[in-house]
This record gives sequence, structure tokens and C-alpha cells, in this order.
Amino acid sequence: PVVLGIESSCDETGAGIVRDGELLAHVVASSMDEHARFGGVVPEIAARAHLQAFNPVVRRALDEAGLRPGQIDAVAVTTGPGLSGALQVGLAGAKTFAYAAGIPLYGVHHLAGHVAADTLDHGPLPSPCVVLIVSGGHTSLLLVRDLVRDPILHLGDTLDDAAGECFDKVARILGLPYPGGPAIDRAAKDGDPLAVRFPRPLTRPGDDPYAFSFSGLKTAAARWVEQHRLRGEEPPVADGAAALQEAVADVLTRKALAACRAHDVRTLVVVGGVAANSRVRGLAEKRCASAGVELRVPAMTLCTDNGAMIAAVGDLLARAGAEPAPLDVSVDPSAPLEYATLNPVAASP
Ligand code: ATP
Ligand code: MG
Ligand code: FE
Repeated sequence: PVVLGIESSCDETGAGIVRDGELLAHVVASSMDEHARFGGVVPEIAARAHLQAFNPVVRRALDEAGLRPGQIDAVAVTTGPGLSGALQVGLAGAKTFAYAAGIPLYGVHHLAGHVAADTLDHGPLPSPCVVLIVSGGHTSLLLVRDLVRDPILHLGDTLDDAAGECFDKVARILGLPYPGGPAIDRAAKDGDPLAVRFPRPLTRPGDDPYAFSFSGLKTAAARWVEQHRLRGEEPPVADGAAALQEAVADVLTRKALAACRAHDVRTLVVVGGVAANSRVRGLAEKRCASAGVELRVPAMTLCTDNGAMIAAVGDLLARAGAEPAPLDVSVDPSAPLEYATLNPVAASP
């Protein structure tokens, strides 16, 4: 089927079109710049930006695919998790499109979308695989079998900040611009990752092997900056950035590969904005190679929030014969992963 996917859970308004696993259109508008001066996403601003971007983004996706609205067979939309107001704008738009066109609507779990993003670049996912989702909003380690038929096993999560959030907060502490991830990545190129020894949280024996914690890194970075200032010096920002990046990359890849080992999995998929980080990628490549694990990282535009990944799940749900959502389906801002593979109402077959 030809599936239109809508994403609006955070600060990206995405519309994508997928036909039987093939990407036909992929359009994203971001309100990131509008949040920059607040140092983080402001829910009200995000919701309003979705309202403004929805129609143009959907129209552009249809143009890109060379399709008329009447040629769309189904609509898939993120129902959660995410910001309530932001989700509601996308859901209202998706319902309207589906109702007007008389086509089925599928509710999609945002994380299932992130997982499916890779299929648009590298084809169907092998079963099982381990998926590391690392972005500004999530740090999750998942065990995925059949994406729409089997429940996704939630191996671990961050107990506090997400990895991207850690980059953003530490960048602010170091005086680097928002979003912090790319800024730290750039600054780190001129730094020595061994110049500072930042902690590797939750990596001691007895710690939960798949849980993450990044708020301690933020504190460590703040203390490191303060120590320099107390001596009347400016901190060597490049070294701080390189060391922070090293600590995050080390913990992420170590735990992801431990999950592959423990579950005898041969494929690791890394998605989310932090997958753009050069050290996360470099270390993942190195550690996967020595463990005999295949590493899959989709193109960056598919790694960050987008509608194409939601369309990809909708396409899989439709082909699996899943029951569509009723038109009174609501958003679920804290949607549990148990529902990731189901549409929000009825179980998949
Ligand atoms: P969600 O969490 O719902 O996926 P998001 O907007 O927070 O939404 P993304 O858009 O996937 O997440 O990614 C943005 C995050 O990725 C930001 O925290 C940003 O700092 C981080 N990021 C982007 N590029 C890099 C990079 N090169 N290195 C480290 N972090 C990066
Ligand atoms: Mg974003
Ligand atoms: Fe996301």
C-alpha cells in the first residue's frame, strides 16, 4: 500500500510516504531554531509550529512522491510517546486526512518508528536485532524480533537524562551553542579525549547492564569547569568536549554490545540524533567489528524524527492486516512500549 506517515511528537513536523517498504517522500520542518534561546523544546511553541507546518509539509510530501491525496491508501500517525499538545496537532491532521479520503488510520508508537527508519535505507530488519535509540528525548536499548508481530523487549533505558540531553546540557555548561550535540562533536575534533576522565555511569559489576544514567556527567562537567574558573583559568573546552563525548560513546556502545552478546544477536541498529555523533559511530563500528556484529545506522535524515519512519510502520501494519484505529483514538504522551507493535486499539493478528 501507499502510506502517508505523520510525526509531530516533539519539535519536528514530518510527513513521509512509503509504498511497500520503498521511500517515496520524506519532508521535515523543524521548530528547533525557535527553541534555541530557551535551551530546550518549549511545548507550546512546538505545538503552534506543528499547526503552521502541517499543511505545507504534507503537500510537499505529496508533490515529492508525485501523488494526489486520492492515491494514498492509509495514514499512519505517531500517537505517543511525546509532548501532548504537539502529538494532538499531528493526530488531528492525520484523522482529518484519513476521514476525508475514506482510508484507514494507524496509530504508531514513536519508538517503533525510530526502529523502522532503518528499513527504508537497508531493507527489512533481521530477527532478532538489538536497537539503540539515542536522541534528545530517549536513550533506549531494545530487543526487536518481528517489528509488528512480536512485542519489543525493552532491555533498558536512561534513569535520568537522555544522551542527547546530556550533550545539550554539557554544551551549555561549556559555553557551546544549542543544539549541543553537533557543537560538542565539532569542538571535540581539536580536543584530547584522555585529558579529562569523566565517569562511566552504571558500568560497575552489579549495576544494571542495560540501564543508563547521564545526569552525573553533567555534574562532573560543571565541576570540571568550576575548578578551572576557581584557578582563574578558562577551561580547555575542546578537551572537555572530547572527554565528554568519549564517556557517552563508551557507555552507549559498551552496553549495546553487551546486549548483543547476552542475546546472541548479530545485528545492532543505532538510530536517533545522537547516532550522528562521530565518536559514537566510530566506537560502535570498532566494537561491532571485533564482536562480529553487523552495524546498521540509517542516513541521518532518517535517524532524527521524521514522518517517513512512521509511514514505514504503517506500511508494515497494513501489510500484516492490523486493525486500523478508530477516529476517536487519542494521543498517549507516555505510551508504554508494550503497545509499540500494536495499533492503539486492536492487537495485530
Ligand atoms: P526525540 O527524542 O523524540 O527523538 P529529539 O528532537 O530530541 O526527539 P533528535 O531530533 O533525534 O531528538 O536528535 C536531537 C538530539 O541529537 C539533540 O539532543 C542533539 O544534541 C543530538 N545530536 C545531534 N547531532 C549530534 C552529534 N553530532 N553528536 C551528539 N549529539 C548529537
Ligand atoms: Mg528533534
Ligand atoms: Fe524521536
